[in-house]
Amino acid sequence: MRIVVLSSGSSGNAVFLEIGGKRLLIDVGMNRSFIKRELDRVHVPIGMLDGIFITHSHRDHTSGLPSLLKQLGAPLPIYIGRDTAEELKRFNIIDLTHYPYLHCINSMKYVAWADSSLTVLPLKLVHDVPVLGFYFEADDGNAVYITDTGFLPQVHAKHLYDREYYIFESNYDEDMLVSCSYPDVLKARIRSEKGHMSNEYSAHCISKLIGPHTKKVVLAHISENSNTEDLALVAHRRALQEGNFDLNNIVCAHQRRSLTVLDPKYGAALH
Ligand SMILES: [Zn+2]
Ligand SMILES: [Zn+2]
Repeated sequence: MRIVVLSSGSSGNAVFLEIGGKRLLIDVGMNRSFIKRELDRVHVPIGMLDGIFITHSHRDHTSGLPSLLKQLGAPLPIYIGRDTAEELKRFNIIDLTHYPYLHCINSMKYVAWADSSLTVLPLKLVHDVPVLGFYFEADDGNAVYITDTGFLPQVHAKHLYDREYYIFESNYDEDMLVSCSYPDVLKARIRSEKGHMSNEYSAHCISKLIGPHTKKVVLAHISENSNTEDLALVAHRRALQEGNFDLNNIVCAHQRRSLTVLDPKYGAALH
């Protein structure tokens, strides 16, 4: 298994995940040249991808899809909620209606490969547009991807408990959000149940989810305007300090440089 967060934050999100022998992208919120450059750095040819999972229609998760698909030589399956595919067309981002390798996915319906190499469980989250989180599981490991939700439904806890790798939103610090320059309506949206997870709420959720098999927690979608990596780390370290989890294994994904979370070729996990 390999995990590289290529970019994470309000300006764009894209994660490379190699699991069960499949090379996947989760979200394409950066353009093709950025993704190609970052994949080149970890020696993954962009033409060797096996699929793309899309969480939701917001541009910071989808803006790179048109440029990526335009220049692809090989067929590339896209796994996406039907409502999200419809929104992408309505928002003039991309029309996937006739895309021949489209797989419409639903919350709580496993996506499984015929060779049983990998299963993916999409989980419905809570945002101002339809959004899915994902749980990936294969023989070589498992990983959770949860961003862009104001709230983590309790019903998902049993699927997300004691996983190895969490890529998990820690979007804003309460005090920084209150005092930042965003208009009040945007602040209210971010703080609402249909917005994003604060550091405190994210830390609370993570403290309930991690278990003895958990190897790393990657804090993601950290706002550049209403948060800092240090504040996100402090909140999570505080919430986890009582347990046995090594606090050095909480790391932050970045907006402007990639984070190699796990790459067995280089031995221990890097950050
Ligand atoms: Zn987002
Ligand atoms: Zn969003």
